[in-house]
Amino acid sequence: MKLSVPKEASEGERRVALVPEVAKKLSAQDVEVVLESGAGEAAHLPDRLFEEVGVSLGEGFSGDVVAKVAPPTAEEIGRLSEGTVLIGFLQPLTAPDTAKALADAGLTSFAMEAIPRISRAQSMDALSSQATVSGYRAGLILAQELGRFLPMLSTAAGTIRPAKVLVLGAGVAGLQAIATARRIGAALHAFDVRSAVKEQIESLGAKFVELDIGLEDAEAAGGYARELTDEEQQRQREALADVIGGMDGVISTAAVPGRKAPLLIIEDAVKQMKPGSVIVDLAAETGGNCELTKAGETVVEHDVKIVGPVNLPASMPDHASQLYAKNVQSLLDLMIGDEGALELDFDDEIIAGACITRDGEIVHEGAAKAAGTEVPKKGEAHEAQGDGGPESREPEGKESEAEEAPRS
Ligand code: NAD
Repeated sequence: MKLSVPKEASEGERRVALVPEVAKKLSAQDVEVVLESGAGEAAHLPDRLFEEVGVSLGEGFSGDVVAKVAPPTAEEIGRLSEGTVLIGFLQPLTAPDTAKALADAGLTSFAMEAIPRISRAQSMDALSSQATVSGYRAGLILAQELGRFLPMLSTAAGTIRPAKVLVLGAGVAGLQAIATARRIGAALHAFDVRSAVKEQIESLGAKFVELDIGLEDAEAAGGYARELTDEEQQRQREALADVIGGMDGVISTAAVPGRKAPLLIIEDAVKQMKPGSVIVDLAAETGGNCELTKAGETVVEHDVKIVGPVNLPASMPDHASQLYAKNVQSLLDLMIGDEGALELDFDDEIIAGACITRDGEIVHEGAAKAAGTEVPKKGEAHEAQGDGGPESREPEGKESEAEEAPRS
């Protein structure tokens, strides 16, 4: 089979879906690898590094399999021929027009977000690898934007107390943000609606914030948080406002798959913060955890700086690309047969779960729901599963490997 990798066209996207190390391994598996010239440049991977490992330069959309990072634009979908396999972030739950266009173009598409989060698929988990980058960057942004030290310092000119930082949402990004800010020396506090993460928060040296809001564990199927009821959210926001008021910085990462980000930081909470405090809202792209966040902008309200970064992984393209390319390679390993032949086994839970479109139809439950269509009945196409939001994580009557080894 031939794998091709285009140069990313979306504004600000500096990642690339392939790195030379992965290209070399694919070539050794008899896969022909083609790269669009300049595709790796923004990630500091010039063409020559790919050519040295046997990659040829050519048309990025010409492969039997095309690997991308960002969701394809309509123009890019137009450049793919029917039957091509497309791999990338496709936003299956929130970009129904993309799913429809992929189906109409007769493409077999696999969304990295929809790979079931089971232990066998850990090495393919691009949500986690890229969230790791986002969390790390968020910690650094906070340190950079605060007009004060993060660590405690004892100097001849006096003692500096450590900055108090609250991390909201302790999934992959949140835990990485805790680890990063803690390494720089801040005093960390964290809250998540899933009580299972308390231990993980504490093991990173942060204090778990107990909110007395009568909320039992809000973990749903697949280890994700469920969406809180309006009343629960209201109680949470009010309780958090007091906690936030005592912090120098907040990094918020709370998310519920396929939904708008939960609103956790109301204007009143911002008002209670000291002048010069900083909020880094990683949920900016999906509506923001803070009421005052503006996606892609840094605003100052009530003397508090509110940073709303978008596509943070692209701001660290070298390692983000390296991790992403490894994720893609692991998925490809499931698709490559003898002598580099493309073999798609739709009986494999990972292949079936990650597939969004096939044979002209949307076959992923969550994507079909978002697009207002229905998945073909059993027998017409494989029943899809995977990242269809919390409720569609577990296929009915089937025990998922997800139970086997949940990880953070
Ligand atoms: P995410 O990006 O979907 O959400 C980020 C965090 O926000 C989560 O921890 C969530 O609990 C939290 N959150 C949601 N609503 C909130 C609210 N109202 N207030 C406070 N926090 C709120 O999460 P993620 O990083 O993708 O990970 C989610 C889950 O998936 C975790 O349990 C993680 O351990 C699990 N996971 C499993 C695997 C696997 O292979 N089994 C891999 C990666 C992650």
